[in-house]
Amino acid sequence: MDTEMTSTTKTDLKNLTLLALEKFLQGQGKERFRATQIFKWIYQHDAGSFEEMTNISKELRAELEATACISSLVPEAVEEGSDGTRKYLFSLADGNSVETVLIPIEGRNTLCISSQAGCAMGCEFCLTGTFKLTRNLTTAEIVNQIMAVRRDVRASGEEIRNIVMMGMGEPLHNLDNVIPAIQIMIDGNGLQLSNRRVTVSTCGLVPEMERLGREIPNVNLAVSLNATTDELRDRIMPINRRYPIRELLRACREFPLPGRRKVTFEYVMLGGVNDTLEDAKRLLRLISDIPNKVNLIPFNEHEGCGFRAPTQAAIDAFHKYLIDRHVTVITRDSRGGDISAACGQLKGRLEKPGPA
Ligand code: SF4
Repeated sequence: MDTEMTSTTKTDLKNLTLLALEKFLQGQGKERFRATQIFKWIYQHDAGSFEEMTNISKELRAELEATACISSLVPEAVEEGSDGTRKYLFSLADGNSVETVLIPIEGRNTLCISSQAGCAMGCEFCLTGTFKLTRNLTTAEIVNQIMAVRRDVRASGEEIRNIVMMGMGEPLHNLDNVIPAIQIMIDGNGLQLSNRRVTVSTCGLVPEMERLGREIPNVNLAVSLNATTDELRDRIMPINRRYPIRELLRACREFPLPGRRKVTFEYVMLGGVNDTLEDAKRLLRLISDIPNKVNLIPFNEHEGCGFRAPTQAAIDAFHKYLIDRHVTVITRDSRGGDISAACGQLKGRLEKPGPA
């Protein structure tokens, strides 16, 4: 069931920030304030057609109908894990698909959204990365993931509290579409999410981190670090050959985080590879001059991958070493592991087509 509306000639208004929508309307000789009205209809009332916009004149609605459209996504499949994690599969208009994961943590819903179909970064331990990049998602496809899941959670009286851009793809590799999507998320006339509740995760594209910081200075930054020496990081995360650890950490230090906010360092623990106390010590040394918190993510074994999950003893020792030194550490349980929704397991429907 593919319900995304797109048109080659019409402008999908969900690709436009409020400012861009103002320009679009001005280009048609319309008043600027109409943009705010339309924006609210789209994001606050979830309008799927111009007909619903009752405070807009019939004439303008007809004109918009001729030049613009409002896309939406409807999940093709929803799977729920035993821990309540829900994975949504969305088909896109061109046949690609992406996954979005809702993680209920203590009554607060966190939504993990995708920014690309596949990923070009090729991290060795990541299932998404093994499928290469198919294409960037549009701004509309990014915000539509949120809106589709919001519809679902609102049906049971809940809301989405946090957005994390940690799904399929490297968000900073698609900044031209990710930045407008974040602007729509945090716009008071848009999805009305606080910038405190939006986190962008990167494997370490340094120039793009600088651009993100310049253009949207108040979002949270998460960095997928996963190794404490360039030698290992070069091997498991090819991006490190371009931007080694020292440069990455400099960009973290310079990232304009407001007030007391911290950079989240994500550390996928790979059994026998990066999970020793020596690694924990080096990690602490590397990040100690950056306001930090650490997410330890025990690796989820998946088919065809040479890495192993760490032992519980290794996880506990690593965690304790950091906690004892006053680092804020969260060891993520493998949420959604039973539905392949856990970190690094998202793949949409990227498997090569088999015989019919
Ligand atoms: S971990 Fe993230 S950046 Fe690396 S391949 Fe996977 S999706 Fe891409």
